[in-house]
Amino acid sequence: MNNASSASPFTERASGGVTFMQADNLSSFPGLVHAFTMRAGGVSEGIYSSLNLGTNRGDEPEKVDENYSRLCAALGIEKSCLVVSKQVHEDTVRVVSERDFRPSVLSPVNYSADGLITNIPDIPLMVFAADCIPVLLCAADSHAIGAVHAGWRGTMLDIAGKAVEKLCAEFGGEAKNIYAAIGAGIGKCCFEVGQEVYDAALSLGLGGENEFTTDDGGGKYHVDLKEINRRLLVRAGVPQENIALNSECTFCLCDKYWSHRATNGKRGVQAAVIALTSGGV
Ligand SMILES: [Zn+2]
Repeated sequence: MNNASSASPFTERASGGVTFMQADNLSSFPGLVHAFTMRAGGVSEGIYSSLNLGTNRGDEPEKVDENYSRLCAALGIEKSCLVVSKQVHEDTVRVVSERDFRPSVLSPVNYSADGLITNIPDIPLMVFAADCIPVLLCAADSHAIGAVHAGWRGTMLDIAGKAVEKLCAEFGGEAKNIYAAIGAGIGKCCFEVGQEVYDAALSLGLGGENEFTTDDGGGKYHVDLKEINRRLLVRAGVPQENIALNSECTFCLCDKYWSHRATNGKRGVQAAVIALTSGGV
């Protein structure tokens, strides 16, 4: 993975002025809709320009609402059925149903979860990120889906592996039939961390030093969160060949994606969204 010479397993597409990335492995399922959003295609201005999907970052609510309308129209999903969560950098995976519908996309959510799963068609699951790692899951045998927000804390808590386990436990099916897409997030190039995060990464037991970590010897460490999440998915039983990883770094590409670190927090939010359509996977 992360082999610069290999073709990306993601394709950039546009619809109705909204551009988004799609993982080729998930695009191959006709009964599935998914997207990893980027900055372009919305109506927000200034530091939120333009497809900001964050409702609590100070952007004008009417513009955020319009951004949701454009994205949902571009993907052919129902805005009123979109389910999100309060993301708290923990490892709770919530089983989503119609009870999670809100009056509007601007309405607050009264539960926390960093992972969402369902097997009900036409309920799009959405997670947010701006450097953190978004992961989408499709269980091809049990016709279930998942969306995961993995920042460094969630990554070290194995939220990705726990989402795979819960998909299997709740809906049947086996991890070997799960397909996963790891979206753009901060790369090892730009994710400088303290020793605490570096030590936590190594303690996951996913491989040796320098495989996904760097210690410059001067007290600076770098960690590859996308590669760690890939390895966590493999350890949970997802076949390596079923996992697509977008190697793009949100910090390096901060005009294309929102990056919390590159903007010192003055930013909008991108999202990863996935839905089963009524026909199923
Ligand atoms: Zn970078």
